[in-house]
Amino acid sequence: MQFLKNYQISGKISCLTGLHIGGSSDSLGIGGADQPVILDRIRNVPIVPGSSLKGKMRSSLELKYSDQWLTRDGSPHTCDEDDCDLCIVFGRGAKDNPRDGRESGPTRLIIRDAFPDRETQTQWEEREGIVHGTEIKGENYLNRINSVAKPRFIERVPAGSAFDFEMVFSVYSEEDEARLAYLFEALSLVEDTYLGKAGSRGYGKVAFEKISVGWKNAGSYRSGDDWTPDDRFVEATTPRAILRALREKRT
Ligand SMILES: [Zn+2]
Repeated sequence: MQFLKNYQISGKISCLTGLHIGGSSDSLGIGGADQPVILDRIRNVPIVPGSSLKGKMRSSLELKYSDQWLTRDGSPHTCDEDDCDLCIVFGRGAKDNPRDGRESGPTRLIIRDAFPDRETQTQWEEREGIVHGTEIKGENYLNRINSVAKPRFIERVPAGSAFDFEMVFSVYSEEDEARLAYLFEALSLVEDTYLGKAGSRGYGKVAFEKISVGWKNAGSYRSGDDWTPDDRFVEATTPRAILRALREKRT
């Protein structure tokens, strides 16, 4: 197994509705929300953790390819098959090394934490009611018998915010080139479901936009070359457009 290429996939996560990716309520002060969002400790702004996005992408694929990857009890898929696309792309449990000493190599997909872009940070500063990038939304639920409303307070990143995402996808074989499509398929599935919590109540509708794809091969690293734009995708900047471009190139 030999390193052939890294792809860098970067772009924007645009929040079309409020987004709640939960943080720890330990840090909750008096008068705080019941459900705070996760903040970067240093910059004190909400982030989309790479692990949250990766987990959602993975579980979306497990559901879509349920025959192959959905477990009976709903726990995350992992296996010891050396040719399992899901485990190769997203990683496998530490105990599940491929059988018979075969190797499937390192986890191909790395996702960085996504930080709010500059425009979003300015918006947050200018808008009233936004504190460290979040608004507090009160929701009521009614006691089913006496109809007494009980409020709860949920922090969320307001609609219209955008985060800069970056992923790296490594290629060690020809098959990995085909596996790249899973990444965009997963993003497309996330767009049609949700990111974070409370998706069934309207939170977390996102779009992945302004995507650019570049590559570096072994030679680029040796010579210090920067990412070379992948010319298959110059006009494709959304997950679906990239999937179409990939399909056209294959046929
Ligand atoms: Zn697997």
